[in-house]
Amino acid sequence: MSDQDTIFGKIIRREISADIVYEDELVLAFRDIAPQAPVHIILIPKKPIPKLADATPEDHALMGHLLLKVKQIAQEAGLDNGFRVVINNGPDGGQTVFHLHIHIMGGRQMQWPPG
Ligand code: C5P
Repeated sequence: MSDQDTIFGKIIRREISADIVYEDELVLAFRDIAPQAPVHIILIPKKPIPKLADATPEDHALMGHLLLKVKQIAQEAGLDNGFRVVINNGPDGGQTVFHLHIHIMGGRQMQWPPG
């Protein structure tokens, strides 16, 4: 599947709308359309990496940038008491959109283990 086929590619290209909370030249973050917590934000690289397992050493700096943006976005969302970060990878991981993305969830007590 090419990036042109994913819903997140369409959001990057503004072909469909999203509630965008952060953007820079490398990444985009928007509120999940079906939130599983009071705050549920999806953070994606603009580069169309299908899933975490497809990242390469070439993506080293991008992956670091993403994690540091998690921290910034969580702070800006007011998640001072903690938050959950999830990357679903592949079918067994529960991934449904094959454009790498990070879930940032907070605003309630998270449970462990996840389902
Ligand atoms: O990790 P996974 O692939 O299951 O997550 C995809 C996420 O993208 C879901 O939480 C879904 O609600 C979200 N989504 C969205 N906006 C869309 C399509 C999916 O926020 N237009």
